Amino acid sequence: MTPHRWVMKAVGEPMVKEPLTLSPPPAGEVIVEVAGCGVCHTDLGYYYDGVRTNMALPLALGHEISGRVVQAGAGTEGFLGKAVLVPAVIPCGACDACRRGKGTICAGQKMPGNDIHGGFASHVTVPARGLCPVDEGRLARTGLQLADVSVVADAVTTPYQAAVQAGVCPGDLAIVIGVGGVGSYCVQVAAAMGAKVVAIDVDPVKLAAVAGHGAGKTLDARQLDGKAQKKEIADFAKASGLRSREWKIFECSGTGAGQATAWGLLVHGATLAVVGFTMDKVEVRLSNLMAFHARALGNWGCPPELYPAALDLVLDGKVRVAPFVERLPLADINRVFHDVHAKKITRRAILVPA
Ligand SMILES: [Zn+2]
Ligand SMILES: [Zn+2]
Repeated sequence: MTPHRWVMKAVGEPMVKEPLTLSPPPAGEVIVEVAGCGVCHTDLGYYYDGVRTNMALPLALGHEISGRVVQAGAGTEGFLGKAVLVPAVIPCGACDACRRGKGTICAGQKMPGNDIHGGFASHVTVPARGLCPVDEGRLARTGLQLADVSVVADAVTTPYQAAVQAGVCPGDLAIVIGVGGVGSYCVQVAAAMGAKVVAIDVDPVKLAAVAGHGAGKTLDARQLDGKAQKKEIADFAKASGLRSREWKIFECSGTGAGQATAWGLLVHGATLAVVGFTMDKVEVRLSNLMAFHARALGNWGCPPELYPAALDLVLDGKVRVAPFVERLPLADINRVFHDVHAKKITRRAILVPA
């Protein structure tokens, strides 16, 4: 395969294929031959909504990368030939925040497809720090390809981090709003951690998909208003012997409507995890947090230290990837972006170079 990348030059303009020269990586960095790179809501934000990337355009987007290390800079030789996941957010590992285990707020972090060229390419040069090795024997036994687990690098690890941060444990009631690319894994991760899960979406197809994979109850937000949803959830909690308070709410839709729904579901001691991203604003009575002694938590990616445990959930079959992904040729990137944006592709699209 001739090394190449697809770069975004301006908002909404067709991405362009460019040849790539593979110079030997500097110390501490590797070149990964991309097996697959997932198309995330965040990529659509850069491409369609004009969300600014930290690196100036033209830039190859894509931060959900799996592949194989084909060149290793000094000090990273142990990764050569290995199948790996590239974390969506790669902290520097050396600053004050990193040393205290807060890599997601590292000021020196690198996000492929934002701070550096991303994975919509045949090859990508990234820091080796934080690479998550993929056990290819276990991968083969799950029937998955290396490209498929690219989604672990964001769609699985981001809600995994959110669930860890929210302290999900057996006996919890978790509510996931928006069960698309990220939310479908949030449902499965919360269920794998022992929670009973209620899934809310406006798309019956997506609700049906998670009903078979982790959701104990599904609610169609087009059929029920916020009040009716809250009552249904309270009834479900009661019938399941769960608490009527301390719900763990995961907003994964990345929409103003979803965020308003999430806010309306606050109960005493609730945890609201904001996982999805939108430029929209919502008006809320912030004092509800005070009155309910509740908390709202942001979630920017996932520290690399948590990746192996999140990948284990997939390799152990506790989180199913296959029903929620679709492999598509990288050469069709412009059509795929259009179709994901137009919601014609509802599974997570994984672009595969050829
Ligand atoms: Zn993403
Ligand atoms: Zn740092």
